[in-house]
Amino acid sequence: MATRSAGRTRRAAFAAVAAGCALVLAACGGDDEEPSVEVEENPDFPAGSTMAELSEAGSIEIGVKIDQPGIGYLAPGEDMPSGFDIEIGKIIAGALGIAPEDVTWTETVSDNREPFLQQGNVDIVIASYSITDERRQVVGQTGPYYVTGQQILVREEDKDTITGPEQLADVKTCSVTGSTSLSNVVDDYGAEPVPFDTYSDCLTQLQNGSVDAMTTDGAILLGYAAQAPDELEVVGEAFSEERYGIGYQHGDTEFCEFINDTLQEAYDDGSWAEAFEATLGESGVETPDPPELDACQ
Ligand code: GLU
Repeated sequence: MATRSAGRTRRAAFAAVAAGCALVLAACGGDDEEPSVEVEENPDFPAGSTMAELSEAGSIEIGVKIDQPGIGYLAPGEDMPSGFDIEIGKIIAGALGIAPEDVTWTETVSDNREPFLQQGNVDIVIASYSITDERRQVVGQTGPYYVTGQQILVREEDKDTITGPEQLADVKTCSVTGSTSLSNVVDDYGAEPVPFDTYSDCLTQLQNGSVDAMTTDGAILLGYAAQAPDELEVVGEAFSEERYGIGYQHGDTEFCEFINDTLQEAYDDGSWAEAFEATLGESGVETPDPPELDACQ
């Protein structure tokens, strides 16, 4: 399991605030924009289960992205990340009886998500993490809690010349090591992207003219485009299906069932839609119907 000492320290600091608050924490923060997060009081789990261990520890370590606005983003000067993945993380933590303040958010990049889970550096990963058969060989992945598709981001002046993945073999393209985005365009379109560790690295390359296009999930690209609408444009239709899942330790089916039950409840009680509207919805993405969950394997 992930080390939880940092979470415990923060829990002590948070206790004074929690004592005066109702279960719906947004009301305590004074920020009406943030979705409310329900934190279960004394939830009961089977002895020895991952749920019981996390719930008793009172903290959880979640691997997230911190450079993808709308999904997982740490704004300069903030110590709490924001975005749809972060809200999903708070919903899972809340169902374990863990308050948002007791979550340890750990940055993961695309290429270290499997090793972080395998080595127990984090308890779960919620990081624009597409479910794939290959990844499911080495880690557990459940969901999807969101479905997007791969697109292309270009500078405004190139939006009529670079319009689809067929052109990526002929222009300087950036993508990220360990992502489906990179392998999709190599395998299906003969592109040879310049590989970087993060999408914010690619964004810098695109903005300074070192590359002419970057490619990954539309949801990620829309977040960047929303930050520089006069400068950047998402072009073309989606050319893949990316089903975002929650990563957990391979083989922990009981935990998978718990995650699925929690997601289904969030779909049914409207908290999933509320989380979406407050995050990706702000980048102009329309709130979809929640996707059907895979059965745990
Ligand atoms: N969703 C894709 C993946 O998991 C691309 C985004 C990312 O790298 O986080 O590889």
